Amino acid sequence: MKCPKCGSQQLQKNGHRRGKQNYRCKECRCQFVNAYTSRGYSKDVKQICLRMHQLGLTSREIEQLTGVSRTTIRNWIRSMQHSSINHLP
Ligand SMILES: [Zn+2]
Repeated sequence: MKCPKCGSQQLQKNGHRRGKQNYRCKECRCQFVNAYTSRGYSKDVKQICLRMHQLGLTSREIEQLTGVSRTTIRNWIRSMQHSSINHLP
């Protein structure tokens, strides 16, 4: 786990929010919820799927290649489009 803002691993557990683990960064003091482990897919898998989408593959093709369900891929694409922070390089 890393802070999404500053990349620090100095994290402090800060209770739960809507059933998800909430963290506070000791470096920049920002708070965030662990969104990656709840679905069972790693951050790498998510980035690979989003990269495939950017290269023009459909969610069905990505599902066949990675084994990640289409619904999850569409949710990732949607959250990426709605997010102001782009995690892809
Ligand atoms: Zn931080």
